[in-house]
Amino acid sequence: MLRASRRLVLIVFGLGCAMNEPTASDDTAPLRERMVQDQIAARGIRDPRVLDALSRVPRHELVPEELRVHAYEDRPLPIGHDQTISQPYVVAYMSEQLQLSGDERVLEVGTGSGYQAAVLAELAREVYTIEIVKPLGERARADLARLGYRNVHVRVGDGYRGWPEQAPFDAIIVTAAPGHVPQPLVDQLAVGGRLVLPVGGFDQDLLRIERHADGIREEKLIGVRFVPMRGEAEKVE
Ligand code: SAH
Repeated sequence: MLRASRRLVLIVFGLGCAMNEPTASDDTAPLRERMVQDQIAARGIRDPRVLDALSRVPRHELVPEELRVHAYEDRPLPIGHDQTISQPYVVAYMSEQLQLSGDERVLEVGTGSGYQAAVLAELAREVYTIEIVKPLGERARADLARLGYRNVHVRVGDGYRGWPEQAPFDAIIVTAAPGHVPQPLVDQLAVGGRLVLPVGGFDQDLLRIERHADGIREEKLIGVRFVPMRGEAEKVE
């Protein structure tokens, strides 16, 4: 009896979402709702567009099949090649710091699973994302296309120098940690643009850098732990 009524709740919930949110029209929607309430909203993320984006993106579709049952838990998960998909809270926090209203062109360095890119695709107009590990970039490109994200463009390569052909960007997010702020990324910010990135060694500071007409403003946010940025970032210190 208990089981039957629980299933009914799931079905009703699923239908409710299916009417306006096609990507959430499966029975994992309640898991995402709980994740958003317990892990994200409860810790102070307020931007309704960010909360909405996290309740829509099917995170379980972007993690290795054997880890899908853990997709909505409060932690990062391995995605192969020694890399990880970030904890949902960190994705939400960084997304909120970018202050997106829907019209922006965004650059991400460190595509990984494609999850953060999918969240950004819900929040902005165009997303350009760069991944240095070829099989990860190719898998993310295929997964994002399968999920219908036509506004995400994936490039395989070193993101240290950004994506000059598509610059300037209204927002830039970096999800691998360099030891210093890559100047090319600052240079590719539009006036009024925001760059959010971790900087440091094993323990890092999350920084938010804003470009204004009269210069750069830098703010330290929270402590984080991302995988190190590979490639040119390791040579220039
Ligand atoms: N944003 C990802 C999590 C990224 S983990 C997600 O939502 O799943 C960090 C990723 O950055 C890894 O996939 C790693 O291979 C990639 N990376 C490291 N150095 C890089 C560089 N110089 N350019 C582009 N990607 C890089």
